[in-house]
Amino acid sequence: TKPVYAFEEADSKQRMLLGGKGAGLSEMTRLKLPVPPGFTITTEVCNKYYENNRKLPKDVMPSVMKNIEKIEKKTGKKWNSTKNPLLVSVRSGAAISMPGMMDTILNLGLNEKTVEGLATQTQNPRFAWDSYRRFIQLFGKVVFGVNDEKFDHVLESAKTKQKVKDDSQLNVESLKKIVSEYKKICEKHTKRKFPDSPNEQLGLAIEAVFKSWMGERAIVYREKNNITKDIANGTAVNVVTMVFGNMGDDSATGVVFTRNGHNGKKEIEGEYLINAQGEDVVAGVRTGKNVALLKKEMPKSHKELSDACSKLEKHFREPQDIEFTIEQGKFYLLQTRTAKMSAGALVKTSVDMVKEKLIDKNKALTRIPAQQLEALLHRTMDESKLKNYKQLAKGIAASPGAASGIAVFDVKKAIELGEAGKKVILIRKETKPEDVPAFFSSEGVLTSLGGKSSHAAIVSRGMGKPCIVGCAELKIDYDKNTCTANGKTVKEGEVISINGSVGTVFIGEVPTVEPKVTKDFEQILDWAQKTKVLGIRANADTPEAAKLARKFGGQGIGLCRTERMFNANDRIGLFVDMIMAENAEKRAIVLKKLGQLQKSDFKQILKAMEGYEVTIRLLDPPLHEFLPNPEELSEKIQKLKAKKATKEIKKAEVVLKRARELAEVNPMMGHRGVRVGVTYPEIYEMQIRAVFEALVDLTKQKVKAHPQIMIPQISSIAELNHIKKIYDKIKKEVETKNKMKLKINFGTMIEVVRAALTANELATTAEFFSFGTNDLTQGTFSFSREDVEGKFLPEYMEKELLERSPFQSIDVNGVGSLIKIGIDHGRGIRKNMEVGICGEHGGDPDSIKFCHGAKLSYVSASPHRIPIAIVAAAQAAI
Ligand code: PEP
Ligand code: MG
Repeated sequence: TKPVYAFEEADSKQRMLLGGKGAGLSEMTRLKLPVPPGFTITTEVCNKYYENNRKLPKDVMPSVMKNIEKIEKKTGKKWNSTKNPLLVSVRSGAAISMPGMMDTILNLGLNEKTVEGLATQTQNPRFAWDSYRRFIQLFGKVVFGVNDEKFDHVLESAKTKQKVKDDSQLNVESLKKIVSEYKKICEKHTKRKFPDSPNEQLGLAIEAVFKSWMGERAIVYREKNNITKDIANGTAVNVVTMVFGNMGDDSATGVVFTRNGHNGKKEIEGEYLINAQGEDVVAGVRTGKNVALLKKEMPKSHKELSDACSKLEKHFREPQDIEFTIEQGKFYLLQTRTAKMSAGALVKTSVDMVKEKLIDKNKALTRIPAQQLEALLHRTMDESKLKNYKQLAKGIAASPGAASGIAVFDVKKAIELGEAGKKVILIRKETKPEDVPAFFSSEGVLTSLGGKSSHAAIVSRGMGKPCIVGCAELKIDYDKNTCTANGKTVKEGEVISINGSVGTVFIGEVPTVEPKVTKDFEQILDWAQKTKVLGIRANADTPEAAKLARKFGGQGIGLCRTERMFNANDRIGLFVDMIMAENAEKRAIVLKKLGQLQKSDFKQILKAMEGYEVTIRLLDPPLHEFLPNPEELSEKIQKLKAKKATKEIKKAEVVLKRARELAEVNPMMGHRGVRVGVTYPEIYEMQIRAVFEALVDLTKQKVKAHPQIMIPQISSIAELNHIKKIYDKIKKEVETKNKMKLKINFGTMIEVVRAALTANELATTAEFFSFGTNDLTQGTFSFSREDVEGKFLPEYMEKELLERSPFQSIDVNGVGSLIKIGIDHGRGIRKNMEVGICGEHGGDPDSIKFCHGAKLSYVSASPHRIPIAIVAAAQAAI
């Protein structure tokens, strides 16, 4: 392929080659929309640049210069001309949009001579010199790596000297001085003369964009967003004729979404600034005007904008995020890309666009990243409690959801504290791309400047983090680490709450409530339910969780962890009594009580899931998990000894003895699961009886209950058969006593590697399988699921030994192979055997895709992830 494509030559389908921006500009050019002439240097050149030891391949610059000539012909402007100079912008653009992640240079082509040309041509020397100083600043920063603050400093003192407040009030004299100072700054930094030749400027700028691809900001962004080489390999460079939004009051620049990116309403949403350049809007330095006002201020341009919006939406069949500039009344489009919207907006626009016949239902489902739906399922502020909290300020709602955390004003500190597990709200005047790592470690973001299209807003929305921008009444003091509004001051470390759905900031931790599912969301879920093949069940251990799961569309329970039922405050004591019982008789008395509690829980859960299967897993954790830690207990005993509390000491010593007896070096591979069932059969007997008795009661009440009993940690058919005998015995007892036949499926978890490998044997007894992918992953990797995330895993990912944590997303090659073996074995014995997964992976979209492909019967996920799982399952089926 060629190294350079003029916009009119390119095929926008070559996104990988041209990057998103290049593809968009080419497509708009082909649609005959007003795009300033320009060209794209391909991503292939970027890769060659790196292969070539960071040097541009030889054929690139000649090709670039040919294309500059083409622009000259189209515009009538001349490169390096003192009369009618051609100026260009140089912008990066990878296949996947990485907003603000890479660098842009504007006004390139200016030097001491061409600036005069621009001044005469526009009859506006102030404008020309202002453009020149902006160019040197950007060029110095991007190409030479000069710290922005040095330039800001010069600008500030020039304003003070001339006694003006605003940049736009600086006169030509001041601007000329600034230019000379700026150049000196660059020259001091680089120890070379500032490049005057536009050719040299262009070459350096192109290289700088390629370099930015491997800049730290870009690398972090790609890592965090899972942007791998197969979806974006290098950046392209776009060279575009400059058009100026800062040529006076008949000029403007703006950023709009073709539909509201926050709530999805069909209305052009965004901001513009009169007499400004694009970066001013994006950086949020000046807060823009609502685009609705443009209709009054520049009706002709507004009409052109709205026509372009509908043309682009019809063409791309996706809401677009558009940059435009009006130069002395003439309207130009500078960029279009798929709008990054909040989850709510994605849902609404999906439903609306189906109604408008822009897209079909499959497209409506696949365009929503399932993971992002999480934001809709987030908690919101409890309105009824709000009156107890002081509202500190109100800003612009930029990304929905509620969050609380300690106020932190420093980016580095936010990262440190966030990574140390503190909940942080990052508070800044504005944010820059280099601040993005702090977004990941914060619960939410609050800025005093900027609008809905500002950096903070876009990044937060993409991450699904609550965000408020443009909170102008909030005065932030970076020196004192405080912010003040309405007479109230918040210091660093104090807890605040933000509501990104409405823009309000509160002092203290405001309680939150469960989210509501909107009509549009219900519609999406309904389409997804009808499209998906996989069943979606819930991991739920309480009646409340079962109800929530059902409300969210869960069809059954894939895992009810019975031990969780003992964790409740009033029960743990009873369970400990059971463990401590001196003999079988005493144990039997306690077990009876526990059995009654379990039976009542089972009844409620089964009722909540009436009509659907509920898989009840017998006790799994080792018994010592229910006893105090021996070390802590012996410390306590020492303290008791000091107090001479003889009776308590005696009691504690008995517990300590038992805790020490039960302690294990490696509990995860220890006396747990079925091993407890084998050694304390009375516990499993009690649980099995409780399930059968619950079924008896419900059957009598004509409730359609479908319990299934599942055994954890099985590694051999011998173990399974051993428990099956107990199951058969209890079944018979209960049936005889109640004079009714009872059907409860008996199955096993497959979470021990040996179980997967001998699943053909297990299937002779097990009526169903459920893969416990948490333990199966642990066993397959020999990674401790409890420790790994905080220990070596981050370094493994950094060193690219692992792409993602295998505990989050199924390791397809390893664990996935075991699952496939298990399914084949199982279904080889029982043809249509029910096989599901119930590890944490059940709520992960990529794992769900794998499960669909592996023909599992269902996935089981925590109630809050059910809608995500439903949509992901539908997407896997499309
Ligand atoms: C599993 O191991 O995947 C599982 C679901 O069981 P638990 O997480 O309770 O060990
Ligand atoms: Mg397990």
